[in-house]
Amino acid sequence: MNADFVISDIEYVVCCDGSNTILEKGAVAIKGSKIVWVGSSIDIKDTFAPGVSIISLPGHILMPGLVNSHTHVPMSIFRGLADDMILQKWLNEVIFPAEAKLINRESVYAGALLSIAEMLLGGTTTFCDGYFYEEEVARAAADAGMRAVVGQGVLDYPTPDNPEPERWMKRISDFIEGFPSSEIVRPAVFCHAPYTCSPDTIRKAHEFCVKNDLIFQIHLAETIQEIREVEKRYGLTPGRYLNDLGVLGEKTVCIHGVWLERKEIQLIAEQHAKLVHCPESNMKLASGVADLPMWLQHRVVCGLGTDGPASNNNLDMFGEMRMAALLHKGIRQDPTVCSAIEVLRMATLGGAKVLGLSDIAGSIEVGKSADLIALDVTVSHATPLYDPVSHIVYSAKASDVRHVWVAGRQVVRNGELTTVDLSNVLETIKKLFASKN
Ligand SMILES: [Zn+2]
Repeated sequence: MNADFVISDIEYVVCCDGSNTILEKGAVAIKGSKIVWVGSSIDIKDTFAPGVSIISLPGHILMPGLVNSHTHVPMSIFRGLADDMILQKWLNEVIFPAEAKLINRESVYAGALLSIAEMLLGGTTTFCDGYFYEEEVARAAADAGMRAVVGQGVLDYPTPDNPEPERWMKRISDFIEGFPSSEIVRPAVFCHAPYTCSPDTIRKAHEFCVKNDLIFQIHLAETIQEIREVEKRYGLTPGRYLNDLGVLGEKTVCIHGVWLERKEIQLIAEQHAKLVHCPESNMKLASGVADLPMWLQHRVVCGLGTDGPASNNNLDMFGEMRMAALLHKGIRQDPTVCSAIEVLRMATLGGAKVLGLSDIAGSIEVGKSADLIALDVTVSHATPLYDPVSHIVYSAKASDVRHVWVAGRQVVRNGELTTVDLSNVLETIKKLFASKN
């Protein structure tokens, strides 16, 4: 068999495939951008021609790269700008004025690259974004070699990149038409929320997505204020309202779902729409806690997201997994809910399904893209190692990630980025921050 390189001698290969396969002393072979073979290290000699390039990684777990299903990467430039505030006050008094002052093509690119650096170093290989100037987010992802679904923001308010909100359709049409062809970066639409977009905007934006085979993202049922506002305006809870508009479909990714009722969760499952859980952001903004055990009970296809770095304040998917696995046990007083494997699946194959990428990413399987991460398990907090899934969710840290590949290309080697000059990124951000004061 032919391969460009084989990663071998791996302590555990955690595949996150349909049967949750775990291989001890496993190996994975890569040709071009794809995984071409998954097996045991002892079979390498009989399978590949002598001289095949071998990357030997004893003392590591190899797993699919993590999928951050919801974020706003350019907002890293607002990380820690204001915390511990009521959401509306935080938005109106801090974030919106800061966006009006600081958001432009240059700052979006710089902020996106900063976030991408953090995510790649922490083992995330795919992210789904929603913001303004998303062309720049796409450029940053392509430059860094990170897989991304980038959603151009739509609101019925003037935004930094669309001062005339009634021209939103032209804005997204131009965005899609001018989108560079890429193996790893795809365009999408991000309709902000039911309270910032009119029914007409939501319906037409969804139609546009269905017609152009794009993911349609929308924040949904995030806060109790949103529930009251939507009920007041349309006489329906937000989930029922979207269902009435006919926009709960296969392409629809609903984010947060904190206040969804059982019936709304059922509707989302029946219509094959998707949900994204962002527990840390929901807690930090005191929005509430989504009923993830109920989502899982109704078999909703769901992923895990950090949300933007201004409301988290990091993009650490290991932290997010741990939070998701612990939070609901405490709330329900039931240690059996949101098991480690369920949460790991949300952060891998579940996220890939949410983003329409399950034929490409989210698991280690022959034919899929080689989006892989290797975690060092020779560290104290990985010893002893009875169960790699338990370790990944309850104990591993983003800083344990030593190597990362996206589509077969190594983007992190020995804990260092190969595609991004991190010191340059940090310097640019410091200058932007200095210009604010
Ligand atoms: Zn968000």
